[in-house]
Amino acid sequence: MNIHEYQAKEILKRYGVTVPEGKVAFSVDEAVKAAEELGLPVVIKAQVHAGGRGKAGGVKLAKTMDEVKEYAGQIIGMTLVTHQTGPQGKLVRKVLVEKATDIKRELYVGIVIDRAVSRVVVMASSEGGMEIEEVAAKFPEKILKEHVDPAVGMMPFQARKLAFGLGMEGKQVNKAVKFILGLYRAFVETDCSLAEINPLVITGDDDVLALDAKMNFDSNGLFRHPDILEMRDVDEEDPMEYEASKYDLSYISLDGNIGCMVNGAGLAMATMDMIKLHGGEPANFLDVGGGASTDQVRNAFRLILADPKVKAILVNIFGGIMKCDVIAEGVVQAAKDVELSVPLVVRLEGTNVERGRQILNESGLNIISASDMRDAAEKAVAAAKGNL
Ligand code: GDP
Ligand code: MN
Repeated sequence: MNIHEYQAKEILKRYGVTVPEGKVAFSVDEAVKAAEELGLPVVIKAQVHAGGRGKAGGVKLAKTMDEVKEYAGQIIGMTLVTHQTGPQGKLVRKVLVEKATDIKRELYVGIVIDRAVSRVVVMASSEGGMEIEEVAAKFPEKILKEHVDPAVGMMPFQARKLAFGLGMEGKQVNKAVKFILGLYRAFVETDCSLAEINPLVITGDDDVLALDAKMNFDSNGLFRHPDILEMRDVDEEDPMEYEASKYDLSYISLDGNIGCMVNGAGLAMATMDMIKLHGGEPANFLDVGGGASTDQVRNAFRLILADPKVKAILVNIFGGIMKCDVIAEGVVQAAKDVELSVPLVVRLEGTNVERGRQILNESGLNIISASDMRDAAEKAVAAAKGNL
């Protein structure tokens, strides 16, 4: 789960990570009030779940109250298009009004899990403001890394190594050490999958501040953090994915035109591979899970059909724990609820497969049955092209 910059900064502050003083505003009036409280100059920052706002006009420095009004008015309600939003952009509903910072240097600090070594890695770079992927591609030697031993946590000497590696000196070092150790603690204690400060800045007074903040959380850990779960902003999420999450379905929207309903993430991935191998493109990833109910299957099916891109549907079920008749029941009910307007290819195998096939055959629905995965993929691709 993602949260906004202003929310990430609220969390980080609790861990001793220094951030500029700021307030969130949902209207021009609120932005003006915030600026009056903070004192000019302020920075007005679009709050959307995407980076690259600066270059796209979503971050503006306001030196007067007139500018606060002007920029807040421009940014709230604008559709911000950055390289991370896709061409359709994101509607800005709120801004962060922040005391402007006198920037001496822009640096980078980020924490992720390095799956190759199964450890948390703290990365730092002198190339702040630039995207870390770009730094990694152009100057890999400029990314400093400290892997953390989970038994002892991040050690102060590791944070010092990073601070010195970034060329810090004097009182900057101790401030950076406190900052980095606080960021690490926030990462671990809130079950983050990513915590990124880009840029981390050194101010004219040699203070160390998080000018930007991005935090992503492992959804499997969210039950332990009801306060963070409350920060969820469904306006920022794909509406289909949000709908799916209500029914406990693992659904990811994709760009293709073949809707997929599969049980098990591995089989769902393999099904998408088979579709692509036969020249098609999946419209979604959907794992209905091992023990889905008829109701869940019906909702899953409805979700696929709600996607206007979908030109054919492929249902690929291996009934292990999940029974084929339950799937068949759900498919039939859903197809009757929602008018089935596209070809439906079904491949069933496993527990209660005969009963499942019988339900489908007796449903009166126009179902293209497939004997195995290859056959199913071939038929779905042909159907999506209108050749079946
Ligand atoms: P992003 O573009 O979405 O990553 O947004 P950031 O929060 O990183 O802001 C982009 C850029 O705006 C930063 O790299 C800074 O150069 C600039 N910026 C943001 N806040 C301030 C500020 O308080 N003072 C100054 N001078 N520049 C700022
Ligand atoms: Mn940034």
